[in-house]
Amino acid sequence: MRIILLGPAGSGKGTQGELIERHYGFPRISTGDLLRLEVMKGTELGKMVADIMKSGRLVADDLVLRVVRDRVDDPDCQAGYVLDGYPRTLNQALLLEKIDVGRPETALEIMISEETVMERLSGRLVCPECGTVYNVHNNQPPADRRCPACGAELTVRNDDRPEVIKERFRIYRETIGPLLEHYSRKQVLFRVDGQRTVEEVFSSIRSILDDRIRGDRGASSRP
Ligand code: AMP
Repeated sequence: MRIILLGPAGSGKGTQGELIERHYGFPRISTGDLLRLEVMKGTELGKMVADIMKSGRLVADDLVLRVVRDRVDDPDCQAGYVLDGYPRTLNQALLLEKIDVGRPETALEIMISEETVMERLSGRLVCPECGTVYNVHNNQPPADRRCPACGAELTVRNDDRPEVIKERFRIYRETIGPLLEHYSRKQVLFRVDGQRTVEEVFSSIRSILDDRIRGDRGASSRP
């Protein structure tokens, strides 16, 4: 099963992706995290994408595809995986279907307002070492602003500044339509209200996925 999380930055895709990973054992693949790692390591790809990422705009499809293809080929993805932040355009969805052909899919759209996104992201602090995310509104960072797991100083992501958050939301709205239509046509699109608590959102996701995975076992043996 390929689980695709759709929703603007700040909708909770990362958090829900981690819960899905823990509950079902499907690894979470975040293209944002993979690209940030390339930037941090100073690779050739990282150098090509750094400025675009800082601005909140989308990285070119062929560059993102490189990191996705490498990751879904890993042995731990053979039984299934959760995509967080990919695909973001219809073309990316079509490319994905070409590099991993015939895998059953479930697309989950997490719906959320721009106001909630602004509030959540403007309070977000992340650990640059291990990627743990804190939020001054609902997952308080430690008072000394150091990561309890690895001791690194928590930072605000480059693209979590208010003007960039707005730009990312605008781009999401602009590009998501054809992607939603695509998954809706394939009858694999499910909508979830993302304004609720983490537990409530996950409970809705679990009931969708339990149904899908059960149905899939009946229909085909492909994970
Ligand atoms: P995220 O952590 O998912 O918010 O992604 C951070 C940034 O990485 C985005 O604003 C884009 O610049 C880039 N990025 C991540 N995933 C994609 C993608 N599927 N297509 C294009 N750009 C992406």
